[in-house]
Amino acid sequence: MPDHNPRGPLPRRRSLGVRVGKVLIGGEAPVVVQSMTNTDTVDDFATAMQIAQLSRAGSEIVRLTVNNREAAAAVVKIRNRLLTMGIDVPLVGDFHFNGHKLLAEVPECAEALDKLRINPGNVGKGARRDEQFAQLIEIACKYDKPVRIGVNWGSLDQLLLARIMDENAKRAVPKNAVEIMREAMIASALESADRAVELGLPADHIILSCKVSGVQDLIAVYRDLAACCDYALHLGLTEAGMGSKGIVASTAALSVLLQEGIGDTLRVSLTPEPNGDRTKEVVVAQEILQTMGLRAFTPLVAACPGCGRTTSTYFQELAQDIQTYVREQMVHWKVERIGVENMSLAVMGCVVNGPGESKHANIGISLPGTGEEPVAPVYVDGERVVTLRGDNISAEFRQIIEDYVARTYPTRL
Ligand code: SF4
Repeated sequence: MPDHNPRGPLPRRRSLGVRVGKVLIGGEAPVVVQSMTNTDTVDDFATAMQIAQLSRAGSEIVRLTVNNREAAAAVVKIRNRLLTMGIDVPLVGDFHFNGHKLLAEVPECAEALDKLRINPGNVGKGARRDEQFAQLIEIACKYDKPVRIGVNWGSLDQLLLARIMDENAKRAVPKNAVEIMREAMIASALESADRAVELGLPADHIILSCKVSGVQDLIAVYRDLAACCDYALHLGLTEAGMGSKGIVASTAALSVLLQEGIGDTLRVSLTPEPNGDRTKEVVVAQEILQTMGLRAFTPLVAACPGCGRTTSTYFQELAQDIQTYVREQMVHWKVERIGVENMSLAVMGCVVNGPGESKHANIGISLPGTGEEPVAPVYVDGERVVTLRGDNISAEFRQIIEDYVARTYPTRL
């Protein structure tokens, strides 16, 4: 299994630590998992329920849209509903165009939030841009809230882009359009951060992001951004897409950056299927970090892909059953047991690799392939301890896991 040292075995870029409610982003902290709601924030019940779901799934920070006065007022109700449920996950308000007004008119919203996210391209137009940006930063200073300056290539500051294009035209060897876009995004983030510091926001209250939807563009932008500042960085591929495309694109981009030690917090921006589960983006973010050995969240089940030696779907069903069981149990285990997230499990389809892989896991089971004797040896910490057979293998295997957790991982009490 990979090394689960929170910072991982990889060299990491040094960044300023930013306190967001009870969570630290950057500094010595492990990479933090974030998510965002897709409910109407005005519906404080539905939004609080979704935040609770995201938090229970493992989201350590949750962002929500604050786009009008009613939404700003709802933030306080949402916070109170969550506290009633015993959930104190840090909340981030996502502001565009009118954030300065909303926060001034509904100061309780600013107080209830743990971080403000502003997009320098959507703060305002012309001369009002600087004024409205300053108002937002003054509110952040007044309520001692950190700010994410989140640049997005779909809403890049057009004045800044025009200026950089003019400067580029005067170069002996002008950069191409893609390079200019990247340069403009980084300039937008850094110039906005400099301005925020001038206005009194401490540098350790600033997180930067520069999101694009292309994998290679994202890697290039963040490499350059990371090289020229020590602000904490929020990673994310914007508009990643649906299903496997969104997961693969996000994983490809974020893994390269994480491998290079870049990134202090991340969000995987998946488009859910209609009526799909919003918590999928949290699970994918956790699995990226865990499979890279950067953090451990929940026991992962190693399973072979199956082949012509497995003619039934039994072992696929067992692997899924065990992964689901473990995720559900983790809700209790992580509260009660120390270190259980590092447990490794294996569900294998036949005798070819089954015993070997099972021995490498804390608990492994090797199911019978086609033509093999209908027995399933179980290995615990490398030793064959029991052989299961019959119709009750899944329940018996779950009991073995439950017993192992009880005797291996000490209680927190
Ligand atoms: S362990 Fe057996 S069933 Fe699984 S992929 Fe390998 S040969 Fe096929």
